[in-house]
Amino acid sequence: MPLYLYNTLSRKREEFIPTKPGEAGFYGCGPTVYNYAHIGNLRAYVTHDILTRVLRERGIKVNHVMNITDVGHLSGDNDSGEDKMVKSAAERGKTVLEIADFYTQSFFDDMDQMNILRPSVVCKATEHIPEMIALIRRIEENGYTYNAGGNLYFDISRFERYGDLAMLRMKELRAGARTGVDENKRNPGDFVLWFTRGKFENQALVWDSPWGRGYPGWHIECSAMSIKYLGEQFDIHAGGIDHIPIHHTNEIAQSEGATGKHPWVRYWVHNEFLVLDREKMSKSEGKFLTLQSLMERGYDPLDYRYFLIGGHYRNQLQFSWESLESARNSRKSLLSRIRSLAASVSETMPLGVPGISGGPGEADQKRQNARLLAFDEAMDDDLSTPRALAELWGLLRNNDISPPMILQGVLYMDRVLGLKLRNALTEEQEEGDPKFAAEIEELIDRRAAAKAKRDFTLADEIRDELNRRGVVIEDTKTGTVWRCSHRGTENSL
Ligand code: AMP
Ligand code: ZN
Repeated sequence: MPLYLYNTLSRKREEFIPTKPGEAGFYGCGPTVYNYAHIGNLRAYVTHDILTRVLRERGIKVNHVMNITDVGHLSGDNDSGEDKMVKSAAERGKTVLEIADFYTQSFFDDMDQMNILRPSVVCKATEHIPEMIALIRRIEENGYTYNAGGNLYFDISRFERYGDLAMLRMKELRAGARTGVDENKRNPGDFVLWFTRGKFENQALVWDSPWGRGYPGWHIECSAMSIKYLGEQFDIHAGGIDHIPIHHTNEIAQSEGATGKHPWVRYWVHNEFLVLDREKMSKSEGKFLTLQSLMERGYDPLDYRYFLIGGHYRNQLQFSWESLESARNSRKSLLSRIRSLAASVSETMPLGVPGISGGPGEADQKRQNARLLAFDEAMDDDLSTPRALAELWGLLRNNDISPPMILQGVLYMDRVLGLKLRNALTEEQEEGDPKFAAEIEELIDRRAAAKAKRDFTLADEIRDELNRRGVVIEDTKTGTVWRCSHRGTENSL
């Protein structure tokens, strides 16, 4: 079944067909690193992660690019308010770069703890100023800009398709409320491409440009960096729904205004908000929960991941401690169910390799396949993680499927869900556990014997079985070395 994604641009579910077969260019807006990521932000990155994992499982090579905003993002997305980075640095008595480094590091710590895969490219705004300037020049040459009060603005009235993504009407945009709007703007919806002057006299980071010494507006970085790493047209762009009316709308105007190519991006994927006490969780309003604050209350970051994927990314999700608690309990019973299945496998079929030691038969395999298919269908249906989770539970509770086949299926599903379920199989079976070590050593001996007989198919099957049991092996001159994949220590045979 093909993968369907809801495309904000068409307001429809559409089959995902990459421009280049077998490859997808994917840009997800990254964090503004002036503070810790809040748990709402993490919802956006888990959504990007699930999407990447599904595409990969469908055999698509994903080129995933994420920006780090370390300059130019004002507290209002429409150029109002103060520079978030400058304000945070002043409050904490640090330089902007110190603040950026600190919160970038903490962001990646959060990503790792939530088992979010690292994007293929992570790019910082401050390291791409020449690319931004070059893109702004193209926009200017194409006649979309004007200079006023020392700043360079994008004139939205010159870009015919302006607002299509958000289904905004140009008439309304022109007539929009002017209160608090920068007096230099011809239309309230116009936005800054390059600041040289304004209210930010104390701007810490400034660069030379054809429009004078200054710094970029916030939106241009995403256009410049995505085009640099993914080309002038690419497949998917993602972010939270708050970005639809301003940030992504402006990104489209800039990118298409510069290149003249339409559509710049084919699929727009937006996650709904995580809300706290029925309010939007907002980093700039200072009222938010971090991953660390959940951990301080004894929750595992993966409990939170479980909680998130229990909701569909396009539905608003209400955070409460009770629902996090129930996610934790579900994850715990998931792990204990997996452990007891694993224990039954090692007691009754120590080698449990399908097809090697009289393993499960064809009917068993068929029943497992049906479950995996239902799981895939759920994910193909606009990433329906709640249904996929239900399929995972369905597989675990199915008494007609043999334990090795269930475990194999669980590990398959977890490649997409990213709950680190493999750890349940290995965490109690350390290298130091003599029974476990003896089983592993026996498998390694059998693999060596298979290789000696040049039966490489069997040797590969045994290596896969070792991997499934959380063991990685390495053939060295002095023999095969193994270790549990969640540990750093090594055992030599
Ligand atoms: P920011 O660091 O503010 O630029 O936001 C990073 C990402 O988090 C963006 O994709 C936002 O749209 C998204 N986001 C912000 N707040 C929330 C929230 N409460 N729930 C879900 N996503 C959010
Ligand atoms: Zn962006």
